[in-house]
Amino acid sequence: MTDVAGAVDRGLRGLGVSPGRAAGPVVRMAAPPVLPPPGTAHSERTVGEGLAAVADELEARAARAGGAAGEILEAQAMMAADPMLREAAEDLVKEGLDPAHALDAAFATHREALVAAGGYFAERAADLDDLRNRAVAAVLGLPMPGVPDPGHPFVLVAEDLSPADTAGLSGDVLALVTEKGGPTSHTAILARGRGLPAVVACEGALGLAEGALVAVDGGSGEVVAGLEPGEVARIQAEAAAERTRLSGSRGPGRTADGHPVKLLLNIGSAADLEVEDLGAGAEGVGLFRTELLYLGRRSTPGFDEQVAAYAAVFRACPDVVVRTLDAGTDKPLPFLDLPDEPNPALGIRGLRVDRLRPEVLDTQLAALAEAARATGTEPSVMAPMVATAAEAAAFAERARAAGIARVGVMIEVPAAALLAAEILAEVDFLSIGTNDLGQYTFAADRQHPGLADLLDPAQPALLRLVELCASAGRTAGKPVGVCGEAAGDPRLAPILAGLGVTSLSMSAVALPAVREALAGHTLEACQELAREALSGRRYQRSAVVTCGPGRGGP
Ligand code: PEP
Ligand code: MG
Repeated sequence: MTDVAGAVDRGLRGLGVSPGRAAGPVVRMAAPPVLPPPGTAHSERTVGEGLAAVADELEARAARAGGAAGEILEAQAMMAADPMLREAAEDLVKEGLDPAHALDAAFATHREALVAAGGYFAERAADLDDLRNRAVAAVLGLPMPGVPDPGHPFVLVAEDLSPADTAGLSGDVLALVTEKGGPTSHTAILARGRGLPAVVACEGALGLAEGALVAVDGGSGEVVAGLEPGEVARIQAEAAAERTRLSGSRGPGRTADGHPVKLLLNIGSAADLEVEDLGAGAEGVGLFRTELLYLGRRSTPGFDEQVAAYAAVFRACPDVVVRTLDAGTDKPLPFLDLPDEPNPALGIRGLRVDRLRPEVLDTQLAALAEAARATGTEPSVMAPMVATAAEAAAFAERARAAGIARVGVMIEVPAAALLAAEILAEVDFLSIGTNDLGQYTFAADRQHPGLADLLDPAQPALLRLVELCASAGRTAGKPVGVCGEAAGDPRLAPILAGLGVTSLSMSAVALPAVREALAGHTLEACQELAREALSGRRYQRSAVVTCGPGRGGP
């Protein structure tokens, strides 16, 4: 609920998707500007002034960011200061267009030229779109769109964030609050990867006033407005103390009576391993999402480039499970040039891309084998979105022929879970992706905020599929891990261990709490919890949700 001034007058509740607490002032991410109809736009700046304002702002951010991020911002500032772009827009103004439309048209022409040039240049198209939005907003006198960087710690409030936005967040972001987004969206996953408390599907969040002091609880999903500065300081101190306490947790995953459950990391690149210190007790990498290296790319990553990226990971950690490219729906890889589909989550995605572009998997498998050879390591390699034993067999044959020693598949489709035993006859291990397995089991879009109860990984139907896989693994004597977001939930960890799962793979920040949860239960107690959860009597955390504030969440 909002008062007349647009400020939220009470607490809000969304879905807590990345645990932790934080407090600080709200900074809102402005939406891209909407062009008014030609001839009606009120301009506050000329083309030259608008572009100069954008370049100045980016320069200032570059100076604050420094390092690699600073270089990227510096390059963007130079693009905004390009005299050819300015002259093209000024010529259009002379022909009668207002500054906003002139900039829009000039950027469009520039963009076409870049895309036509292909390769590296085509990849800059997204940067140009960002500049176009900034320049148009500048001349119309609207707030600057894109991820804000006010130069002080803040709670970022947005309608939604793209994975690229989340990846580009500055270190000043204390927490994320979005009106849209679901519990297994990639925004949630990336927030967890960075250890940022995050609340998504928080209706009314955009009503939080700029600068309002708020507290965010990324576990319960609560967002409380109207704090005093003293309360902000207290919450920050408590959150820091809790982080320090958990960061002292060490050692391999064990139940109270010593039953091992490997604790592994989910990563997107070698950079995650530098930040997410393996010394904190992770026993390896359980999911290396290789597609995150190439999100948004328009040119196909070549063999050498891939070898370098994979070798960097293998050097940092010799025990890695690599997932081959998982493109489609929420993970766009434009270089694959996949056809538009009416129902992309049910179409050509994951391993199915191989039906259209077999050379992509061949190059990736060859690059992985070469990176393993060059680093003297033996990574495991698995395929996403496998649905049948025949697909698993074909993938295993290709991977082994390329020189990969340990081959597995992800279980993300209910059909694959039902055939876990047959699939395990073809491969060396299974890794259960509960995010997609939940989506496909419940026919509920994983990004849909209104269906969070169905996407609750404690749903007994989902757990029964996990049990099928774990029991097939026990019979075959082969490992069965979980690498979906359920693995990082301390409330579920003992249940998954009780079902017979042999490893849990998660973001580094989730690891200490999961380790503590396992250590707090004997294997027998885990099995008892699992029995209750399978029956649906326990741990079904959310009842049917309503579409409004205050709805239940995981
Ligand atoms: C999953 O689906 O659970 C999974 C781990 O893969 P992703 O979230 O990358 O689709
Ligand atoms: Mg998946």
